[in-house]
Amino acid sequence: MRGPLSEHRIIEGLKQAEKIAKSSQSPYTKVGCVLLSSNGEVQAYGFNHPDCTVLRGFWDMDREYLRDYLVHAEIDALANFGHYLERDNPSYPTVAVCTLMPCVSCLNSLARFGIKQIYFKEKLDRDAKAMVVAEYKGILMVHMSEEWMIMAEAP
Ligand SMILES: [Zn+2]
Repeated sequence: MRGPLSEHRIIEGLKQAEKIAKSSQSPYTKVGCVLLSSNGEVQAYGFNHPDCTVLRGFWDMDREYLRDYLVHAEIDALANFGHYLERDNPSYPTVAVCTLMPCVSCLNSLARFGIKQIYFKEKLDRDAKAMVVAEYKGILMVHMSEEWMIMAEAP
């Protein structure tokens, strides 16, 4: 299935999401997300971070424990999308490109903001429910698998 943006623009978006993911201090999974408007402009970036002052030893804590403290990249991107735009404005973001498959909670938040298409690189079986919820809500969710990348980059 094809979205409003070219595969080339989506792949470019993934590179931008991978770049912003490097800002994450997480020793486990560094996640990045970009929100693109239907005309291909980047409207916001996000990465996973605790959104608070980190005390010494914070990142040494158990992974499950850390999970409770992290703002997910998708929510960070939505929060960074600060300026007000009407949804019919061509600059309003409608596409999210993420380095990791969104969890159900992030999927619902992206949907609430009017995101219609979500592209992601890494698949998480744990969060596979997001695929089911996205389908129910009419949101195109695309796994940028190796096969997808080969198809997308073919002339
Ligand atoms: Zn999430």
